[in-house]
Amino acid sequence: MKASAFSYARASSVANTLELLAAHGDRAKVLSGGQSLMPAMNLRLIAPELIVDIGGLTELRGVTVRDGILTIGALTRHVDLQRSPEIAVHAPLLKEAAAHVAHPAIRNRGTLGGSLAHADPASELPACMVALNASIIVRGPEGERRIAAEDFFKGIYETDLSPQELLIAVELPVVPKNSTHFFHEFSRRQGDYAIAGLAAQAVVAGDVFTDLRMTFFAVGDRPLLATAANKLVNVPITPAGLSEASAILGSELDPPEDQQASAVMRLHLAKVLMAGCVSTLLGRPDLRVGGPG
Ligand SMILES: Cc1cc2nc3c(=O)[nH]c(=O)nc-3n(C[C@H](O)[C@H](O)[C@H](O)COP(=O)(O)OP(=O)(O)OC[C@H]3O[C@@H](n4cnc5c(N)ncnc54)[C@H](O)[C@@H]3O)c2cc1C
Repeated sequence: MKASAFSYARASSVANTLELLAAHGDRAKVLSGGQSLMPAMNLRLIAPELIVDIGGLTELRGVTVRDGILTIGALTRHVDLQRSPEIAVHAPLLKEAAAHVAHPAIRNRGTLGGSLAHADPASELPACMVALNASIIVRGPEGERRIAAEDFFKGIYETDLSPQELLIAVELPVVPKNSTHFFHEFSRRQGDYAIAGLAAQAVVAGDVFTDLRMTFFAVGDRPLLATAANKLVNVPITPAGLSEASAILGSELDPPEDQQASAVMRLHLAKVLMAGCVSTLLGRPDLRVGGPG
């Protein structure tokens, strides 16, 4: 199938993009890497009248670090996340997660901004943004706003962005020196969307977590920062304590059922991921329940 007829505009600047979006509202769509937009148009799931191609806006590309803040431009591609020395040092979780996004051909074109704006609940990068406590920077007719990643994702393919706004960049606090991370997803094949996944950022002192941000994905309508993880912070971890956290996780997740997995299976996988994360980060094989590590 081919996309419905549409007009095409190559944006010359961010200001020009915003003018076009203001003039056309929800009849226009921004084009970044096209790896989600074009398939959706070709399947006629959406039929925008105007495509605003921002691919030439070099000011939206790249990674910088200043005053403890890592800033990543919206047009930074998945492959750039994998290769950036700044990301390897200051947000290694993101580097590891980017390798799980689709395949090299898609990672060569797909962008961070596109992935976040698309907001697929099974996507890796939105979950990393929540785990890393990112702020999403968007610009629109009313100026610029910063939205905490936790508040940015609203539901399946739904975000806090209005049709007139452009996602410009994300800002992440650089991870502290003593921090560590965990990333794992269950999928049918390497490169497939996750059936259940976990992106976690933690600070460990001795054998105790002093901070633990566990964000589950593909088990709800958006990435979920698990409050269950609070039960594991500043306390010695015992099998009973982990069971209690696992039970709380069960009450805060409401996984979907689809052709890939039942809700019960997704919930089980989420609990396996939680135990795998704790056991891996603390070096405690006794806490593993048959999952990753
Ligand atoms: C076969 C296949 C497998 C895939 N597997 C995975 C996977 O495992 N995990 C995963 O996360 N993704 C996967 N993807 C999606 C892919 O990673 C996309 O690259 C990514 O989701 C979107 O980035 P993009 O730059 O291509 O965005 P586009 O396709 O250009 O845009 C996506 C959406 O975001 C909007 N948008 C884009 N940029 C902006 C911006 N700066 N401001 C506001 N709105 C914007 C567009 O209007 C559109 O609605 C897969 C895609 C394919 C085709």
